[in-house]
Amino acid sequence: MKKGTKKLSKTRKQAELPKQYDPQKIEDGIYRQWEQSGFFNPDHYSGKKIKPFSLMMPPPNATGVLHLGHAMETSLHDVIVRYHRMKGEKTLWVPGVDHAAIATQNKVEKLISQEGKTRHDLGREKFLERVNQYVEESKTTIEHQLRKLGASCDWSREAYTMSPVLTKCVQKVFVNMYNDGLIVRGNRLVNWCPRCESTLADDEVEYAETEGILYYIDYPIKNSDLPPPHPTLGGGGKITVATTRPETMLGDTAVAVNPKDERYKHLIGKTVTLPLANREIPIIADRHVDPSFGTGAVKVTPAHDFNDDQIAKRHNLAYINILNPDGTLNDHGGKYKNWAVADARKLIIEELQQRGLLKKTEKHIHNIGHCYRCDAVVEPYLSLQWFMSVDKPAVVWKGKKKTLKEVAIDVVKSEDIEILPSRFKKTYFHWINNLQDWCISRQIWFGHRVPVWYCETKIRNPIRQLADEIKKSCPPLASIEQPKKCKRCGSTTFTQDPDTLDTWFSSALWTFSTLLDTKIKKDESLAEWLKRSPDFKTFHPTSVMAPGYEILFFWVARMILMTTYNTKQIPFKTVYLHGMVRDKEGRKMSKSLGNGIDPVEMIQTYGTDALRLSLIIGSTPGNDIKMYEEKIEGFRNFINKFWNISRFILTTVDTPQLIEKKPKAQTLSDEWILAELDILIHDVTKHMDNFEFSPAGEKLREFTWDKFADWYVEIVKIEQGKNEILLYILQTLLRLWHPFIPFITEKVWGELNTTPSLTSPLPSPCKGEGDDDDVSPSIKRGQKGVSSSLILIAPYPKSPTIKSSPALKHHATIRAIITAIRNARAEFKIEPSLVVETGLTPSLQRRISPNILLIEKLARVTFINQTKTNTQGHTIHEHGISLTLHIPRDDKKINKAKKELEHYITSLEQKLSNQDFLAKAPKAVIQTEQSKLHQAQKKLNKLA
Ligand SMILES: [Zn+2]
Ligand SMILES: [Zn+2]
Repeated sequence: MKKGTKKLSKTRKQAELPKQYDPQKIEDGIYRQWEQSGFFNPDHYSGKKIKPFSLMMPPPNATGVLHLGHAMETSLHDVIVRYHRMKGEKTLWVPGVDHAAIATQNKVEKLISQEGKTRHDLGREKFLERVNQYVEESKTTIEHQLRKLGASCDWSREAYTMSPVLTKCVQKVFVNMYNDGLIVRGNRLVNWCPRCESTLADDEVEYAETEGILYYIDYPIKNSDLPPPHPTLGGGGKITVATTRPETMLGDTAVAVNPKDERYKHLIGKTVTLPLANREIPIIADRHVDPSFGTGAVKVTPAHDFNDDQIAKRHNLAYINILNPDGTLNDHGGKYKNWAVADARKLIIEELQQRGLLKKTEKHIHNIGHCYRCDAVVEPYLSLQWFMSVDKPAVVWKGKKKTLKEVAIDVVKSEDIEILPSRFKKTYFHWINNLQDWCISRQIWFGHRVPVWYCETKIRNPIRQLADEIKKSCPPLASIEQPKKCKRCGSTTFTQDPDTLDTWFSSALWTFSTLLDTKIKKDESLAEWLKRSPDFKTFHPTSVMAPGYEILFFWVARMILMTTYNTKQIPFKTVYLHGMVRDKEGRKMSKSLGNGIDPVEMIQTYGTDALRLSLIIGSTPGNDIKMYEEKIEGFRNFINKFWNISRFILTTVDTPQLIEKKPKAQTLSDEWILAELDILIHDVTKHMDNFEFSPAGEKLREFTWDKFADWYVEIVKIEQGKNEILLYILQTLLRLWHPFIPFITEKVWGELNTTPSLTSPLPSPCKGEGDDDDVSPSIKRGQKGVSSSLILIAPYPKSPTIKSSPALKHHATIRAIITAIRNARAEFKIEPSLVVETGLTPSLQRRISPNILLIEKLARVTFINQTKTNTQGHTIHEHGISLTLHIPRDDKKINKAKKELEHYITSLEQKLSNQDFLAKAPKAVIQTEQSKLHQAQKKLNKLA
């Protein structure tokens, strides 16, 4: 027996392999086999000298089922992970779920509203029980779906942002950042969702252009015997302000004009009486007021407008909050107290009209912010919240004290972190440069509770206290456990802050919180915890992070901010941003459009491999991908083709087996296909290393279908005796294809690889630290090559050095001749079974021998000596070769074809002489029609 081959005990009969590939029957079984093998867990094939490779699954939200976007992301990750695992790297892929605070709470609130209840009816504790129950169910669904997609992640390390370990990590991070002065409490203007009754981060507000109304309202000037403000304005002793939000006038604390505005110069410093509230407020000058907007005079409502907040800070104005958390007016609303904003607006406009203070209204287009979770209109709202300071130099980075912002810029600028595609770097820098302090507290119940405690002594309302009360009260304490005693007054009674943290706070820790040792030790610092966590030491910084570009800021940037501060490491070396999945027309898939495609349904119909291919081939970094069912169907056809090729080989060769050594070529075709295979391995490896998965898949598909199946397998049927080459190519293709289409490749591999290890027990997990790696399972399986039982851990083909091979050119000539003859046969409508005589000159014989037989069989011709008397016929010129086909004329058929062509030509000529068509049709269309006509005339001439 030859070296590198292993004899199979039994001969495969055709009957053993079904004609049709049926993914439904095999996929679940194969996934179970992988899981039971233990090889998703890198501990099971590691020696300590092996290069680690790690990535974290962007955790799907715990809000239920996965959509096609998740399917794409998961497929992409799995391609990366399987590739690196096969390269022999110690590969870790951590799966997990995000608790998705607001999103999940909203889902459950909707569920209980069907029972006629609100969360307040249940109370915090009971409500959270319901949420946890819901999350458990969702997690099971998500896990099932990920398995269906073939995700080869390490389930033993599955993480959840609300697990005890991750919660502990969140608390420690909060306390550290609080003690470093990076987390501060302040009464600031925030984005407030009155429906969720919570703050939102700036990027959680979605803006939509809306048609509104601009109201012109007269504010009487206190000293009413003043002349009219300006002849163009009319009236006397009034100043007219323009606003889209008349209801917030109850919170006005000034009227502002531009200092350069001649119309109002004489009014600066005067006082107006605020209508409806009867308060006196000043007229101030601020250079940020746009004189061309409305009347050039604006009302200033610092507690309900971000621009006014800035004006108020410059002029030291008072803040009057007129809203309750639920978006109704509070005590400052006077008689409009308890009315919702929209209703209050109507009533206030009516009253202004009655008093003759509403001067006019006009239509106005403006941007309105909506809550990204519930779509309610977001209110700028003054409230006491927790903020993460991004401009405070408190992070030691590369030996210098820097701000979070500076570090986030440095790591990308210095290329410690690579962002792919690199055009997103610009967007990243822009975003970081404009970053404001991050409001991290939320007033919802589901989430990590803020680990801050308030001493209860002397405070009327410890939670929503007023600014001056904060000064008087004992300082709050950040602590994971309830503090024993207040350091200032000695009290032992404390209340915990009722707020929870922004959901992105915990997901920002994802790359390292998931690698912490699961044993929690009391009173241990985060630094100590990280130091004793083996996974953190081995796998951090992680190798790659591959989320969608739409969460570059939500998540990627925040991971960079939080990880650099907390671990002194970057979270990942490469960020690969993928695009979004869109429908055939390029629209976003959504429930309301009804254009979504359910990945599970597609898997049931076409199989996972087909779905994965359709999501990866054609997808390029940072660009969206269009998806539709026919596309998946097309890839299902490819999978079937792949099965047919494999089946042909498995049933043709006497002994299916793994041939690991490149066999010797016997013919030009062998030389050619083996050279092509080398090029393929080389190119695909290069693409895989550069995250170019789509071109890698396309090259594989082209080789498999066009070169291998359509040419070489057909050649094998003629030349015979090529079992070794067929098996060698098949096993190489299986390994190259495996990251993309794991199920079918594992199935075929199993048919090829029938070594005893298939049934033998697993290699034992590596013993750990002191274990010398010479006997590690990885070595056992890997470097010996193809003898491992599962393709999951079979080594990836080694990329060869490419030498130029003359066989590539010679074989191209042979194929070109065959194709040319086939085309001519089709043109002349020659019966497929008919063998056509073709002239063979001595020089031609020299060029194409020893492949004459091959051409004869594949093109269905027979070569005859070309003499001077038999040069009549159809001559083909291809690759510098001329050959003459002696085509028997079937006049009936030819005449029919001629007639058809003539008819076609007439219709084209008519079209091209139609002036109307020529005037209206685009140039390109006319050109196409002209070239059609030209081709048809050429064809007709040949038939003549
Ligand atoms: Zn909301
Ligand atoms: Zn106290």
